Amino acid sequence: MSPEPPLRGDGHPTVAVIGGSGLYESGLFPRDESRRVSTPWGAPSGVVEVGSLDGTRVLFLPRHGVGHTIPAHMVNYRANVDALASLGAEVILAVNSVGSLKVELPPGQFVLPDQFVDLTKGRPSSFYNGGRAFHVGMADPFCPALEGLARSVGGELGLSVASGKTYVCVEGPRFSTRAESRFFQGFADIIGMTLVPEASLARERGICYLPLCMVTDYDVWADHPVDAAGVAKVMAENVDRVRRWVRVLLPRIPAERACACRHAPEMASF
Ligand SMILES: [Zn+2]
Repeated sequence: MSPEPPLRGDGHPTVAVIGGSGLYESGLFPRDESRRVSTPWGAPSGVVEVGSLDGTRVLFLPRHGVGHTIPAHMVNYRANVDALASLGAEVILAVNSVGSLKVELPPGQFVLPDQFVDLTKGRPSSFYNGGRAFHVGMADPFCPALEGLARSVGGELGLSVASGKTYVCVEGPRFSTRAESRFFQGFADIIGMTLVPEASLARERGICYLPLCMVTDYDVWADHPVDAAGVAKVMAENVDRVRRWVRVLLPRIPAERACACRHAPEMASF
């Protein structure tokens, strides 16, 4: 389908929120409509809620589907990002639950990573699989303009937000072995299953992308066995704080941002 033109000139970009574990319905904005989008890559994880928040057009898509029916390794990341792009998304705020690899990042801590290491195994990771050379730059994988704004809003709200951290993305759905967890500690701070290839696909589409990560557990290195029930409990306790963060941050995102994200696709071909 042809992309809908972004609403420009009103000082606000179209912002998409991808809800992670625990955030299946936005509860962020009055919904004007629900859009069922088909893409050349298949179906996205669900219908896209469309609405507005203080003058900003907002899209919401639950990454795992409503009711968490789609595990991280089965998410159709290409369909999700393409569906949001086709509805005019210029910015994606991505909510991710993560495990902590560092003692100073306890459950309940929020993290804005600035790097990732991709250890996923079998996921289609690009919109460009032949026909032309396309290598998108990912040296700095997330939007620096959004990162600064999110950090500042988090501070205003009294949230504990750590920045400048590295996210290691694993395939899942199983959790790590102790040996793996200790290995990951050598080069990463948090661990999850959902950031990649979502972030690089957004970059391929020239969309500003920022992950908002919420620590739900210490990974198994800490000898605190991670289990799904414990993770769900921390998520439930913190999801309202994430919503508040997004609700205040979202209308402040300016139409003109001091970043090069939107030019990434032009730089990727030769
Ligand atoms: Zn950007």
